[in-house]
Formats: sequence, C-alpha cells, structure tokens
Amino acid sequence: MTTDNLNNKATSEQEIIEIVAKQHDYFKSGATKSYQSRSDNLQKLKAALIKYETEMHVALKQDLGKPEFESYLSETGFTLHDLSTTLSKLKSWMKPKWRMTALLTQPGSSRIYYSPLGVNLIIAPYNYPVMLTFAPLIAAMAAGNTAVIKTSEMTPACSAIIRKIISETFAPEYIAYIQGEVNETTILLQQKFEHIFFTGSPRVGSIVMSAAAKNLTPVTLELGGKSPCIVHDDAKLDIAVNRIVSSKFLNAAQTCVAPDYVLVHKSLKETFLNKIKARIIKVYGKDASTSPDFARIVSDNHFQRICGLIDQKKVIVGGQSNAATRYIAPTVMRDVTLADKVMSDEIFGPVLPVLEYETLDEVYNIVDQLPHHPLACYLFSESKAVQQEIINTIQSGGACINNCIFHAGNHHLPFGGVGESGMGAYHGFDGFECFSHKKGVLKSASWMDNPLTYAPYGNKINLLRK
Ligand code: NAD
Repeated sequence: MTTDNLNNKATSEQEIIEIVAKQHDYFKSGATKSYQSRSDNLQKLKAALIKYETEMHVALKQDLGKPEFESYLSETGFTLHDLSTTLSKLKSWMKPKWRMTALLTQPGSSRIYYSPLGVNLIIAPYNYPVMLTFAPLIAAMAAGNTAVIKTSEMTPACSAIIRKIISETFAPEYIAYIQGEVNETTILLQQKFEHIFFTGSPRVGSIVMSAAAKNLTPVTLELGGKSPCIVHDDAKLDIAVNRIVSSKFLNAAQTCVAPDYVLVHKSLKETFLNKIKARIIKVYGKDASTSPDFARIVSDNHFQRICGLIDQKKVIVGGQSNAATRYIAPTVMRDVTLADKVMSDEIFGPVLPVLEYETLDEVYNIVDQLPHHPLACYLFSESKAVQQEIINTIQSGGACINNCIFHAGNHHLPFGGVGESGMGAYHGFDGFECFSHKKGVLKSASWMDNPLTYAPYGNKINLLRK
C-alpha cells in the first residue's frame, strides 16, 4: 500500500479500504486513548504546524489570494491558538464529570465518562482549508480518535501542504490523508466510520448524510446559509459599518459566517449607504484590485456564479470584475428585494445586498422567507430589549450583537448550525465533546442492598409514588 501519499495520484479504492481497516485495528489496540498519547500527538502536530506556517501562507496566497494577515488571523494563528487551548485544557476535559444520583439509584454515584468514538472521517471545504481541516482534527485527536482527512480539490496548493504535514507527522493507521476528488469522497462515504465530520454546502451535506445513514454513522454537519445582519435605528453606525465591511470582505466573503445581506432600518438607510461606500474606498482604495488586503475567488465557476448575482443598476460601490485574476470588487447593492437573484441562495462572494425595513416584524418575515436557517445572525443595536428579542426570535446557529463573525473566533463558545445550516457543534470543549461519546455511568454501593425494586413487589408501588 502506498501510504506516503506524496505524489499527486488519487488514493485508490483499495488503499482507502486498507487505510480504514488499519485505523479500526489501531483504534481497537487502545493506542490513541491515554492522556499521554493524545497530548504527545497534539504536540507533534503543533510542531509541524509551526514548521510549515510560512508554506501554508504561501499556499493560501496561491489558492485564494489570501493576504498573510488574514491567513494568520483565520487559518494558522486560529489553529495554533485552538491547539494550545486544547493542550492546556485536555486533562480537565478528559476527567469524568459528576452528575446527581436519583433517589431510586441510591446509594451510589453518577458520572459522565468521555470515550472516543473511533475512526472518524473529516471532510473539509475550500474556503478556510487549513483551519477547517485542522480544527476538527485537533478535536478528534484530543478526544482519542483516529481520523481520515479529505480536503477540497479546489485548493490544490493547500491540499498539498496539508497532505505533507499529515504524512510526515503521523502514521496512516492513526491519521491518514486521502488524495482525490468527488470520486474518492464517494468511495470514502461507502466505508464504515464511527463518525463523519463534514464542513461544506448544504447540497453535499445532504449527500454525506444519506451515505452515512446506510451505516447508521452519526454525522456532524457544518453547513452554510444566508446570515442576516440587522442594523437597527439606534445602532452606532460607524462601528457597524467598520465591522460589517471587515467581516464581509474577509477572504473575499468566502466565509460561511459572513454577513450575507444587510437589513437596515429605513431611517438610517441613506447615511448607512454613504458610510459603507466611503469605508470600502478607505479600506481597499478606489481600485480594490490593487489592494494587498483583498483575496480572490477560488475558481472560475464560483467567479461566474457570483458575477451573475450582481445587478449593475443597483450597485453603489464596486461591481467591477476580472475573469483572468478571478477578482470581484467589494460590491454593495442598494434597494434589493427578495425578488433579486442575489437573495435566492447563500452568496459566498464579495457582494453585499442592502434591504430596508421599518418594523422588526418585517425583518422576521424576510428571514423566514429565505431558504436556510441562518448559520449566524448579526444585530447592531444599543437596545437591550431589541437584542434580547432578536436572540429569542431568529433561529440561527450562532449570533453576534454589535459585531459579525467573531463568535466563531471564541473557542469558549460552541460553533455550529441549526436546521439546514447544520447539526452538531465544535470548538474548544464542545469540539472535544463532538468527537466523544458521553457514557453515563452509575456506580452502585455494595455496602448495602436496596430491595426497593426487587420482587415480591407487594405494595412497593406506593413507595415509588412518593
Ligand atoms: P462543497 O460542499 O462543495 O465541498 C465540501 C467538500 O465536499 C469538499 O471536500 C468536496 O471535495 C466534497 N464534495 C463535493 N461534492 C461532493 C459530492 N458530490 N460527494 C461527496 N463529496 C463532495 O463546499 P465548498 O464549496 O468547498 O465550501 C463552501 C460551502 O461550505 C458553503 O456553503 C459554506 O457556507 C460552507 N461552509 C460551512 C462552514 C461551517 O463551519 N459551517 C465553514 C466553511 C464553509
């Protein structure tokens, strides 16, 4: 079996079957379970990530035109921070957690034990190839699992460096990299895993879930959706504009939690539009194609798809594009309605539609009419009552008040979708839990025997009713 995978040849079906079988054997050997082995392996990964940080930045530039700052902020730096947090907390995460013991089961004690799931399949998307491969991998390793990794064919330079890191650092019976495209993923999905962790589109998420159902394999699905950003009439507008521009146009808006569209209160609309236009020009210059701080679209197909969403009659800033470099300018469209093409699906590109509203009921109505439960919801408002109402009313995976996307950067919060934007959550302890089975264990005392549930029952039923 070819296990170094360092050529560009797709991993064959036979190799995939052998890798998965070897991982099952390796997991059963118990080698991944102790605190020491988890910690040692995470340290090895940390050393490799530090060693190859520059190469990862170069690859991210090549595949997505990512500025180095963004690569560090949202890919390598994020991953290393996640890894350091995991290493520092792992011992306490692994400790069994005490729970109350119900009267019927007294005398005794109750605890949750975290046991690893087994062999995991991790499928990553193209937009944050480093972070969205390694963040779930770190959680899987911390929880004592083995893992098979499949990255996106759309980011070949990143895939090559990820493959190199994994192949150089780990034996394939522990962590394996699968080289390939949809065909290889399809073969992978036919294998028996104990858990599949998928990050990507709702369309492919549904394919993954159907395949997993055949083996009754549990899935975590980290998907997308149209995340609204509400700018209420009492918002601090300059703060809102700064934060919306930086979070929307990060990675040329190829971010699952990017604010997809803005709902601005009618009373602020014109000021908001003027300010956002001025801000974009200030940050990226009059011609953003010359800015060192603005990324490119990953593929020709996505470039064409995003260009097709722009209605030039509604553009107030941006609208330019260059197919040769897959550049699409940071673009804002005004007076957008639900009938516009840009509102039909997740945009996943640097086009920001702005819609107006007068009452919060209009906001709820608009969000309800869109196809997916949003992955995130953002609100700019100083009113505690409005903040609470939005949190209670709009069903979204996560949310930020007076900010966008940064809830995903806080390792202490669970990150995941709801409804069509996904199922399950990870990051920090929630990641450890995501890749663990929570085994509920009752330990009964043997210094006495409680005869309450033993026959003959007589009228013991009355004791139970008390
Ligand atoms: P995608 O669904 O096209 O691809 C994701 C992965 O699935 C890739 O590795 C790809 O090779 C594989 N794949 C593609 N078609 C397949 C098929 N038919 N069968 C099996 N596997 C297949 O997603 P993408 O375009 O790479 O990423 C963008 C999407 O991912 C957006 O919808 C975005 O919102 C979502 N996303 C979600 C999160 C999150 O954390 N919730 C993060 C990043 C991206």
